[in-house]
Amino acid sequence: MAAELLDGKAFSRELAKQLATDVKEFVKEKGIVPTLAAVLIGEDPASQVYVRNKERACKKAGIKSLIYRLPDDTQEQELLALVHQLNDDQQVHGILVQLPLPRDICETKILDSIAPFKDVDAFHPENVGLLSQGRPRFLPCTPHGVQQILHRYNLGVSGKHVVVVGRSEIVGKPLSLMLVQRDSAFGAERANATVTICHSRTTNLGDITRQADILVAAIGKPKFITSKMVKPGAVVIDVGINRTEAGLVGDVDFSAVREVAGHITPVPGGIGPLTIAMLMRNTFTAARLQSDA
Ligand code: NAP
Repeated sequence: MAAELLDGKAFSRELAKQLATDVKEFVKEKGIVPTLAAVLIGEDPASQVYVRNKERACKKAGIKSLIYRLPDDTQEQELLALVHQLNDDQQVHGILVQLPLPRDICETKILDSIAPFKDVDAFHPENVGLLSQGRPRFLPCTPHGVQQILHRYNLGVSGKHVVVVGRSEIVGKPLSLMLVQRDSAFGAERANATVTICHSRTTNLGDITRQADILVAAIGKPKFITSKMVKPGAVVIDVGINRTEAGLVGDVDFSAVREVAGHITPVPGGIGPLTIAMLMRNTFTAARLQSDA
């Protein structure tokens, strides 16, 4: 029997509606409009699409969006100056710098320069540290989207073997940290996993992925996870977004794996829309934190 589809698109619409209500109440009570500043450098088509989608999501949520478009030849110092200006601007609650950055700009230096309480992507070392200690200020958007969908479909995490393929700072590493904690924003049932992290130097990858009750693919290689790498009945979460001639595909060979797995997220329409929904939620959280400060 084909796996049950975990519909991130429909779920993200529910979350967006709830957020719009929360934002409306907040604006009424505090007279503050949550504001997200996005910085986009250059003409990378994927980045343009991401920023446009974020802008659209802001509109739906009642969040003000400011877009700073800078040319390809922007110097590191200019970008740092803009981030400092946004840090100091009391009307701006969340800052995101769209990645990747041009080669001459040091990504770490820029991300570290964002004020931690405006760091809605949760990349700043202070926020990563808080997350690793189990007391997050902001949950990183894509891992949060994964945890949200597991919660929405009541899929237990506690005591399960979760295998995460990919150890990036954006997805694999923070997600592993979140699922291994004693508790989560959704309760202990959505945490307390036994987590194995795999990467490009992992040997016998298939032997490990076949042990997963929950398999997360965050690799960046189209259809990399085949049906042979999946335990029958497993939950398969596909984080990958790969642009191919056939359109957008995930890191999982969807049609084949769907026949083996118990639950599976599609691409598109799985974790992608939830990532944006979580960015909106973090912007609202940032505005609330700053209004209470
Ligand atoms: P990344 O920084 O390139 O990391 C990829 C990870 O996959 C690395 O840890 C790498 O190992 C590992 N890997 C590469 N080849 C492998 C192999 N043959 N076997 C095992 N592991 C392998 O990518 P990322 O930023 O995490 O993104 C991963 C994917 O998710 C991309 O398709 C990206 O577009 C997508 N993404 C989606 C969302 C969303 O909203 N849905 C958000 C972020 C990213 P090493 O560390 O050893 O190199």
